[in-house]
Amino acid sequence: MQGRADYDERTHRSRGRSDGLRLYALFSSLFFAHAMRYTTQFLLSALAAAQFPAPDAPEIAFLGRSNVGKSSLLNTLVGEKTAKVSQTPGRTRAINFFALLDESKRQKLVFADLPGYGYAKISKSISAGWPEFIEPYLAIRSALKLCVCLVDSNVPAQESDRQLTDWLRAAGRELVVVATKIDRLSGNQRTRNLLALRQGLELEEILPVSAKTGYGVKELWARIDAVGS
Ligand code: GDP
Repeated sequence: MQGRADYDERTHRSRGRSDGLRLYALFSSLFFAHAMRYTTQFLLSALAAAQFPAPDAPEIAFLGRSNVGKSSLLNTLVGEKTAKVSQTPGRTRAINFFALLDESKRQKLVFADLPGYGYAKISKSISAGWPEFIEPYLAIRSALKLCVCLVDSNVPAQESDRQLTDWLRAAGRELVVVATKIDRLSGNQRTRNLLALRQGLELEEILPVSAKTGYGVKELWARIDAVGS
């Protein structure tokens, strides 16, 4: 019996490990497929409209309240460099632009990492706490093709998120709302929170993601790639 129990435990353990490895391999292959397709190049940090880069490639803006998990998600999407640059002191109030280059070093996409919002009281504009040039960027930037709005799946819809999504819709911007940190929620909570967020922000769809496990990253890439093609 002893031998049998050991045997079962070993097989169980080794099966667990191989499932884990397979999942890891799947996630890495998805991540590296994109990492191989694109290399990321930091372009510049803009503190005024005059500093925006030439609008040469379709741009995707990443927006969200501070602490929503924006750096972590960018890190998962395109690598550590992006998140690190954006968190450098002095650059947290800027729009940080990154080019995604293909194998022939051509710019295929540009990611615009916008400063976190939400601590300052919202007033007439989207956020009184945001530097003045952010709103015009969102309103008139011709290269901007998609706004990825991040909300925390663990937190109910906030007034600032609602104002931002309403404002972007009114400005005619295409947007996708992404619910971050989904790994922290169990199945039932997940369903409940996602529904509440969809209702609170009046959305037809919301994309759950986890920077930690890679959940939903492939779907988000599909949305981003659709803009670039
Ligand atoms: P930012 O201020 O929006 O750039 O947020 P960060 O990326 O710095 O993340 C804020 C906190 O949330 C950090 O403690 C992260 O470790 C945590 N976090 C971010 N993404 C995830 C995720 O997908 N899952 C979990 N469990 N934690 C996350």
